[in-house]
Amino acid sequence: MLAVLATYGPIPYSAEEFARVARASEKLVSTVSNGRLNLHFEITPWLSAFPGAPGCGGVNNGSLDALVAPARSAAGIAGYNPDAFDQVMYALAQRCGFHGVTWGQQVMLAREPSVELLLHELGHTFGLGHAQGSTCALRCGTEDPGDPYTIMGTGRSLMDFSAYEKFLLGWIGPQPHASVSANYTLVPPTAASNRAQALVIDTDVGQWWIEYRVRPFRGLLVRFIDETQAAAPFAAPGVLILHPVRATRDWVSVTETFRAPGMFSLRLTRAQPGRASLRFQWLGARRPVTR
Ligand SMILES: [Zn+2]
Repeated sequence: MLAVLATYGPIPYSAEEFARVARASEKLVSTVSNGRLNLHFEITPWLSAFPGAPGCGGVNNGSLDALVAPARSAAGIAGYNPDAFDQVMYALAQRCGFHGVTWGQQVMLAREPSVELLLHELGHTFGLGHAQGSTCALRCGTEDPGDPYTIMGTGRSLMDFSAYEKFLLGWIGPQPHASVSANYTLVPPTAASNRAQALVIDTDVGQWWIEYRVRPFRGLLVRFIDETQAAAPFAAPGVLILHPVRATRDWVSVTETFRAPGMFSLRLTRAQPGRASLRFQWLGARRPVTR
């Protein structure tokens, strides 16, 4: 990824500071992708690219091309070839109502860099949408972004991507689908493994993704994916079910049972340091006819 630092005069932070955050981002990506993604930032010095503040507009037409054109040509004059990179991130010396925006393989940053901001926008360049949060799967409103356990949400509680997102990115392989009521074993999606790292439950209203975490808590995260909620060009958002069992937390602890009314129940029967045992039971009505 090429990071173009482009200004009309002010220098809001140093290129060294950007580089420090970029290096930390490279390291984290290597970890959370289970070694599947090798990210490298090339970073320009601050380039004088705009005669005045470029403004935050013109980013809702599906392209950043017009807005970042001066930064792009300034990079070219400085000896960088943006076309030679998979993604280009433009860090502009101005603040906007948003922290960053991504269209295709181009990103515009309007805030000082942070690891979560760089990786969140990187996720968008890979086609990930926002991870949302809701107290139920259907019709009770979503917070966007609202999932504190992934960088594509708020990332407040966990600097990682969800198993669903890792699957979309090819960082974990295809996962088992719960076709029958049975016991299942899961390992966390935090290291390369041939074992199940998520349980996928197909229902006629959408798909559920269950994953097991051992840090910073030990329990199951429950997410719901409704394909009809996908906003092109991004994949359908995962919606974390907030307070799935108790109002005080967002995960299912050992011996607790999560119920998706009319669909299924899921009990975490054992929660060991490296794996979880689950008892899954169809409740009937919402199970798809064929699978
Ligand atoms: Zn975003």
